[in-house]
This record gives sequence, C-alpha cells and structure tokens, in this order.
Amino acid sequence: MSRGVLAVAESVDGHLAASGREAAAAARSLSEGGTVTGLVLGTALAGPAGELSRAGVDRVLTMEAPALEGRRALPWAAGIAAAAAATSASVVVLPGTAFGRELAGAVGSLWDAPATAGVTEIVGSDAEGIEVARPAFGGRATQRLKLTGPRIVLALRANSVPPAPPAAVPAPIEPIPAPELAAGILAGEPVGFAAAASTGGPELTQAAIVVSGGRGLKAPENFALLEELARSLGAAVGASRAVTDAGWKPSSYQVGQTGKSVAPQLYVAVGISGAIQHLVGMMSSRVIVAINSDPNAPIFRVADFGIVGDLFQIVPALTAEIRRVRGLAEPGRSPGA
Ligand SMILES: Cc1cc2nc3c(=O)[nH]c(=O)nc-3n(C[C@H](O)[C@H](O)[C@H](O)COP(=O)(O)OP(=O)(O)OC[C@H]3O[C@@H](n4cnc5c(N)ncnc54)[C@H](O)[C@@H]3O)c2cc1C
Repeated sequence: MSRGVLAVAESVDGHLAASGREAAAAARSLSEGGTVTGLVLGTALAGPAGELSRAGVDRVLTMEAPALEGRRALPWAAGIAAAAAATSASVVVLPGTAFGRELAGAVGSLWDAPATAGVTEIVGSDAEGIEVARPAFGGRATQRLKLTGPRIVLALRANSVPPAPPAAVPAPIEPIPAPELAAGILAGEPVGFAAAASTGGPELTQAAIVVSGGRGLKAPENFALLEELARSLGAAVGASRAVTDAGWKPSSYQVGQTGKSVAPQLYVAVGISGAIQHLVGMMSSRVIVAINSDPNAPIFRVADFGIVGDLFQIVPALTAEIRRVRGLAEPGRSPGA
C-alpha cells in the first residue's frame, strides 16, 4: 500500500545529522512506492538540506524560521504537522535521538496520531497500519506493536536502520512557510539540550564505534589511553557510572540505565565489570568486545570477543596495532617519520 511519508532530519554544526539519513531510509521502506519528503527545520538550512537531498528522498522541504532555532519540541511539532498536512503524508518518521523521542509524543498529540519511539525494526505494514519492534524492559525483551489509523508517528532508535547510499542526482529542495505559532507554544524554553561536554569524537549515541572505560582504569588521567584507542578507531568515548560518579568524566559520557543508550556497530568495554545497569545501555550493540582482568566479569557474558588481561598492557598494544593496520602515524610523529 503506497503512502506519503515525511522524514524529519536534525542538523549538527551546519551538516545533516546521521540520524536524518536513517530516518530517510526508514521512510523509503515505509512508502511502498509513495512519495518520501525530507524536512529540515530551523535556520541556515542550505547545508543540511543539500545533504538530505542526496539521502534517498524524493524532495526536501526547508522550514526556516527563528522560532524553530534550537530544539524546542512544540514549535517543531507544529512545523512538522503543517508539513505533513501540506504533503498529504500519512506517516512521520523522526530521527533516533533524544529530541526525536521527545518529538514523537508532541507530534502524535498535535496530529492526533498513535506514536512510538525507539523503533529498531519495521516488521510489516498493511492497509491497517505499521508493525514495529522496539526494545522493552531495558533491552531485555523486544516489544512488537502495531500502530493503526490514517496517521502514524514513529521515532527510530539510533543506528538501527542502514542509511541509503548517497544518490547521484539530488532531489529538489523547496521552502515551505512555518505555521503561525501561538504564544504558548513559543513560550517554552529548549529543555535538556545544553551543550554536553564533547567527547572529542563523534556523538556518543550516533557513533558507529564506541570505546567505553570503567573503574578498571583506576584514575582519570588513564582515560588518555582510551582516548588514544578511540582516536585510532574514529570512535566516541563513553564511560560507566562508576567513572562519572567519581567525576573522572562528565555525566554526558555515561552509558547505561541512567545514562545514554547506544547501539553502535562495535562497542569496546574496557575495565567495565558489566553490571546490568550498564548492560541495558549497550546490549543492542552489534559486536561487543570486552577487556577485563577478571575472567568471571559479567561483561564477558554479553561479549562477542573477550580479552582477559591487564588493560594497561592490552590497550596500548591494541592502539599501536590498529594504527599500524590503518596506516596512521603515531601520536607526535609525522607520517613516514
Ligand atoms: C539505580 C542505578 C542506576 C545505575 N545506572 C548505571 C548506568 O547508567 N551506567 C552504569 O555504568 N552503571 C550504572 N549503575 C552502577 C552499576 O551498578 C555499577 O556500579 C557500575 O556500572 C560499575 O562500573 P564499573 O564497571 O566501571 O566498575 P566496577 O564494577 O568496579 O568494575 C571495574 C572492572 O574493571 C576490571 N579491572 C580492574 N583493573 C583492571 C585492569 N588493570 N585491566 C582490566 N580490567 C580491570 C575489574 O575486573 C572490574 O570488572 C547504576 C546503579 C544503580 C543502583
């Protein structure tokens, strides 16, 4: 059953966020031959709109307005509902980010549509609606639910849908006016999007590779070892709560039940015991590698590959080998030196 689908994308530093490409790919699979429209909102949208136009959509709409600057769920939800109405879309796909999750509720309520977030798989779709899968009970179970009705809203989980390869021919880009926003909608402040301390690499929840450290690192300065490993892999750096509670790293690094959920292609846990509260935040990772000196550490129960040993020997050796294989210069040495 063909349907019009609206894929909403966020931008980061003037570029399309990876989550926007994933939303576009999911929208394509749901459209079944219908039109897939990409939507970017905010200000200075030329860069992200251009990138979205090559991400497998049929056209891109840019909704430019100062009121849409920053991430505020209610103004964005009003803009998204207006764009969905203008394009006769029956499904809105939101990005797999914390903001996408927040938007799902706001768009669903404004648009009077069933909404869900954290979708890892589109299981099926028919004239009645769309069946999706999402993790439940902290990742220990998978919930399947069917969203039915003439309008459906879903937000993805990061790294669950492979983005489409870049299109050779860009889709057309058109501006669309932002709706009139009531004072009540505009009154809200952006919530929870204060700039997080940078890990110096890709954003933790979006990264394809995450290298996380735990109390086994023994002291904050030893995180430098992990950061070297992360740099050699192009990975984001994460941490256990023992580390963030001790103030070795800011809480924005924390992975787990009370931290961030990540689902990268590769998760490397270094000196992390594998408490259940940590596991629920990273168990959906495609491949898990654990380095721990205790062969009975629970992390090995979820690891695909385990290295039992002293991280202070293993991590530098691993970093040097990765650098060698990838042809990267050693830190402080110029290539070929
Ligand atoms: C309500 C609640 C919510 C929580 N939320 C979270 C959460 O979101 N995220 C989270 O991570 N935790 C969370 N926790 C805490 C969790 O229970 C654990 O206490 C925490 O994850 C432990 O962190 P860790 O693995 O770094 O430290 P530890 O458990 O102390 O483990 C350190 C590991 O390092 C290994 N090690 C030591 N030296 C070396 C070495 N030289 N080489 C290699 N390995 C070495 C040890 O064998 C050990 O396995 C929560 C707890 C509660 C009660």
